[in-house]
Amino acid sequence: MKDIREEPLIGSPEAGRGVFVNRTLNMKQVKAIGYDMDYTLVHYDAVAWEERAYLALKKRLLDHGWDAPSVQALEFDPNLAVRGLVVDTQRGNLLKVNRFGYIKAATHGCRRLSGQPLRAQYDRPVIDSGDQDMVYLDTLFSLSEGCIFAQLVDIYDQEGLPGCHSYAKLWETTRESLDQAHIEGALKRDVIAQPERYIQADPMAAQTLLDQKRAGKKLLLITNSEWGFVKPVMDHAYGPYLPEDMPWEALFDLIIVESRKPGFFQGSKRMFEICGELLRPVQGSLETGKVYLGGDAEKVEAHLGLSGDDILYVGDHVYGDVIVSKSRFKWRTCVVLRELEKELEALADDRGQQGRINELMRAKELLENESNDLRLLGLRDRATDETRARREQIRLEVEGLDSELGEILSNLQRTHPSWGHMMRAGNDESLLAQQVERYACIYTSRVSNLGFYTPFKYFRAPRLAMPHDQEVGHWFEP
Ligand code: IMP
Ligand code: MG
Repeated sequence: MKDIREEPLIGSPEAGRGVFVNRTLNMKQVKAIGYDMDYTLVHYDAVAWEERAYLALKKRLLDHGWDAPSVQALEFDPNLAVRGLVVDTQRGNLLKVNRFGYIKAATHGCRRLSGQPLRAQYDRPVIDSGDQDMVYLDTLFSLSEGCIFAQLVDIYDQEGLPGCHSYAKLWETTRESLDQAHIEGALKRDVIAQPERYIQADPMAAQTLLDQKRAGKKLLLITNSEWGFVKPVMDHAYGPYLPEDMPWEALFDLIIVESRKPGFFQGSKRMFEICGELLRPVQGSLETGKVYLGGDAEKVEAHLGLSGDDILYVGDHVYGDVIVSKSRFKWRTCVVLRELEKELEALADDRGQQGRINELMRAKELLENESNDLRLLGLRDRATDETRARREQIRLEVEGLDSELGEILSNLQRTHPSWGHMMRAGNDESLLAQQVERYACIYTSRVSNLGFYTPFKYFRAPRLAMPHDQEVGHWFEP
């Protein structure tokens, strides 16, 4: 019996399931919606998947000759790395960076790096996004390599690794090994063999796509995965939730596998039609209902007769799905970030404390202003014992406020025990949040959240205030 939800999803989205708008997007104008598959249309249990990927990666590194007992004993630790961190491949560090490129938290290997040892390594406190030595952990597929890299840095520091003479080489070897593990097949065979263990199907996602299709949108599947993986994964995640006579393939106008994003958005690429076990080079136009391999965004635009603003692309990879499709083709973009759900939940739980933080900060600001005025007064009329005493008293009061603030801040909920919120870095936006803000027209935690709105929704960006706007209070009035 198929589990089909034909009723529309009425009502406001549950907490954390909204669609957030950076740049106004009128869905009426969007004629085609392209979807990435992994971690977009299909969500995996990231810890289960990455633990399995970690095993494959470790096996490759042991085979590579790094078969010391310390490497054999390594185990996956999902807390060592998170999406959004930057790997400093020259120094063996993981970095959490804010939107200005300032380092807000760091580890060398598995150890926290702060204070003088951190400053000694970075004479310029800013990470340059064009620096080739800095690698971004852009997807949930990066957790296993971030984790093993940190662990191997410790082993390299303590006992060395055969044939490895730098952190950069250590990173390169790790990177290549994970690449091979993804390509080689055993990892994906395991996922396909136990889909319920790895795949977190969302029945509402199928309904959301069906609704978009019925509303006249052309749907595209553009994934880097291979057909031998896409077919069983989509069979599992979408097949059971569509009408009985509708295979999931019928949702899509075009299905493109092994698309090699970001290359798909960068110049012309050969394209093949998948005919059973054979690949037939595409000559002429594309046809709906066929499955293609490779190709490029230009061919998709030509097939659809659409371009730029007419197309929305939805993906989880901030660079490979979103930055390139937006920069090169001006497609509208949506980023899917599952971590948002936990993050918003934690922020909601912290709301009470946030109120107290605001009160304390306000009190601190008033005291600082008073101290400032007393100093200016002292410059003009010479400081008196009274003003000096008052300034000293203010200093002590501010110290008291700071210690209460420190206490509250250290007890705030953290979605991640060591790295904190993905979208924040200290008091500011994280670098990842800044990229999302800059390149994603909208962002949300999962594809089915689009189903809370009609396929013609006018997603309006909020009016954002800059610090100077606070002078003019009416800006904030509803
Ligand atoms: P998409 O997100 O649907 O475009 O597909 C992601 C594909 O990239 C999946 O097939 C993953 O197995 C694959 N993938 C993820 N990380 C790596 C990697 O580090 N090397 C090679 N393939 C990867
Ligand atoms: Mg993906």
